[in-house]
Amino acid sequence: MFINMDKITIDGLEVFAKHGVFPEENILGQKFVISVIMYTDTRKAGITDELEYSVNYGEVSHFIKDFVQGHTFKLIERVAEELAQAILLKFDLLEKADVKISKPWAPIGLPVNNVSVEISRSWHKAYIALGSNMGDKKGFLDMAVKKLDEHQLCKVIKVADYICTEPYGGVEQDMFINSALELKTLLTPDELLTLLHEIEASADRKREIHWGPRTLDLDILFYDNSIIDTEYLQVPHSDIQNRDFVLIPMAQLAPFLRHPVLNITIKQMLEKLGDR
Ligand code: ADP
Ligand code: MG
Repeated sequence: MFINMDKITIDGLEVFAKHGVFPEENILGQKFVISVIMYTDTRKAGITDELEYSVNYGEVSHFIKDFVQGHTFKLIERVAEELAQAILLKFDLLEKADVKISKPWAPIGLPVNNVSVEISRSWHKAYIALGSNMGDKKGFLDMAVKKLDEHQLCKVIKVADYICTEPYGGVEQDMFINSALELKTLLTPDELLTLLHEIEASADRKREIHWGPRTLDLDILFYDNSIIDTEYLQVPHSDIQNRDFVLIPMAQLAPFLRHPVLNITIKQMLEKLGDR
């Protein structure tokens, strides 16, 4: 589906609030000027002339004012971060938001026009592989799906059928249950990996034998179209193309998703693997 990244802008909204590092700022307050660019597809609203298909900039403006006055932070970095997140969580049609917080009266003891922080935050689409071959396998997978969906910054969009598979990697062990899910998230790849490790740990996962039995294994398969190669995180996950227990669930979720490095789709990877 084609999605336009159109923009709706709120420019220079003035709000009197109490953010600042100095205690006086938290008591007296000062002027903050806020600009937000909201990225959404306005095509349907543009054709139908119906507000329900767009984001109501009046409503967002009042939301911003209430939010910025309803909290007291030290840093405008924090104001920007929290506000961008709150806007993306509250207004469903938004894909991305650029938030600029200006503090024209910042007490720096020098003549200055303005100081500001500007950030850009957006939803990301990730695919996660799930596996278990110890204990209550289905229970562990169900728990992982639930914990991901319950996280404030994540939403589980689709879960593939659970499949039963032979162990991989040559270690003698029990059968696996595997699946994959599509996740909408505001977490960065690093933060998402940390969350997956926490969920694994809560399933009593111990890292003993490499490729050995585990109560729960959660891997990031894809994160948008990102290519990440660090010591502790590789995205797309290495070896996707050789693992039918990853490709079969993925083919249910996104058969035409294209691997950003190999440049072939999930469906093509599965066909290639079947030919061997
Ligand atoms: P495996 O999943 O390969 O059987 P582990 O679950 O024990 O093994 O993961 C070992 C390490 O792999 C993790 O600590 C993590 O840092 C690293 N890793 C690298 N890329 C990824 C990824 N895309 N998803 C999850 N873990 C990853
Ligand atoms: Mg893993």
